[in-house]
Amino acid sequence: MTDTIVAIATPAGRGGVGVVRVSGKNVGQIAAAVVGRLPQPRYATLCTFTDHDGSVIDSGIALYFPAPRSFTGEDVLELQGHGGPVVLDLLLKRVVSCGARIARPGEFSERAFLNDKIDLSQAEAIADLIDSVSQQAARGAIRSLQGEFSKRISHLSELIVNLRMYIEAAIDFPEEEIDFLADEKIVQSLAEIREALQETKKQAGQGALLREGISLVIAGRPNAGKSSLMNCLTGKDSSIVTRVPGTTRDVVSEYIHIDGIPLKLVDTAGIRVTDDEVEIEGVKRALAEAGSADQVLLVIDLVEHENDWRKQVDELTDELSKHPGITVVLNKSDLVPGVTASMDDVILVSAKTGRGIDELKSHIKSLAGFDGSGEGAFIARRRHLDALDRALIHLSEGARQLDERRAGELLAEELRLCHEALTEITGEFSSDDLLGKIFSSFCIGK
Ligand code: GDP
Repeated sequence: MTDTIVAIATPAGRGGVGVVRVSGKNVGQIAAAVVGRLPQPRYATLCTFTDHDGSVIDSGIALYFPAPRSFTGEDVLELQGHGGPVVLDLLLKRVVSCGARIARPGEFSERAFLNDKIDLSQAEAIADLIDSVSQQAARGAIRSLQGEFSKRISHLSELIVNLRMYIEAAIDFPEEEIDFLADEKIVQSLAEIREALQETKKQAGQGALLREGISLVIAGRPNAGKSSLMNCLTGKDSSIVTRVPGTTRDVVSEYIHIDGIPLKLVDTAGIRVTDDEVEIEGVKRALAEAGSADQVLLVIDLVEHENDWRKQVDELTDELSKHPGITVVLNKSDLVPGVTASMDDVILVSAKTGRGIDELKSHIKSLAGFDGSGEGAFIARRRHLDALDRALIHLSEGARQLDERRAGELLAEELRLCHEALTEITGEFSSDDLLGKIFSSFCIGK
């Protein structure tokens, strides 16, 4: 962390303003060289940015944030010039020639983390805020960034550490240990911690859903109306709709969101036995795609199969290797007047008139496990959920050791492991490998 780093912090391309961000020890000397002086801390200073020969590269605003009161915790200089790729590149090169090196992806956030300005889940929330695909996800990310998730984790950690200290104190006095471990207080604390952990996991699960969403494959026989349903759900014509069976030869994917949950929607070739080589490959891909999807919408043509759709469902379910997440969608209901409402386990729609589509969307939402508006959810990632899971396992194991064997030392050890799992979320004791993986997925200048 001794190098001074620089990057263009604004997106590539043209814009009204472009920002070059510099962080590290050489900021003072770089400012002196490029803008002629060290600007007054935290004041917007209008100045010219000059090249090594004194020629003007651009004019703009310089902002200086001395350490430690800056994003990275180091001296930071922001040069806000005009947002053209060439002019920003000139400015970047100038800063490099004054003793900075180009930052790696996520290196500013990494320094902020290493200097204790933010914890790991907050650093991740920065990336998630920038990458959010819905307003709900963005709100969740800002809540995490402001530390709501971290506060929960710290609170849980505190409860666990206190309990552990209490138990370890008892272990030190073996003659009293047995009575001590029989104390209801310990059982009660364990139950409270478990409840708080479960609640946090639930909310984190909602947050992870907002970030990661689910994948949904539309499958069925040729001509059932899969492409029409895809277009109905996406609201645009991404899939080709024709009367000719077997026209979708490959998979077509689209990303949409329903109430903020990102949904990868995949239209696939109709599943049937055929001699057409291209179509055979299409069917193969359709089955593979369905196999790896979270959920499958199995579309049945109700006109063709008004009386035997259950049989169709059974056949196709077998062909889809009994995928556990199948929802049956009976399509073309506009042409079958006798059938009027969705039954228990199937949803009746018409991709043509839009009938039943809202019901289908609500169903998809509940399939995803989304329990409401996302209000109050904080953004979370799979690795956070894994850590919470592990914390819960150690807690249960600890409770079991207490209950079955009155084993104080083993309980204390499980509590230690439980705490350790939680610290992975905030990054207190994370491996360099994990940190490298997380920060390298950020974009440059972040
Ligand atoms: P796919 O092969 O399963 O993708 O089916 P398509 O979406 O290409 O649809 C096959 C034919 O059925 C097209 O002529 C569509 O216009 C028609 N179709 C699809 N859905 C409906 C529906 O709900 N009602 C009616 N009346 N026709 C539909």
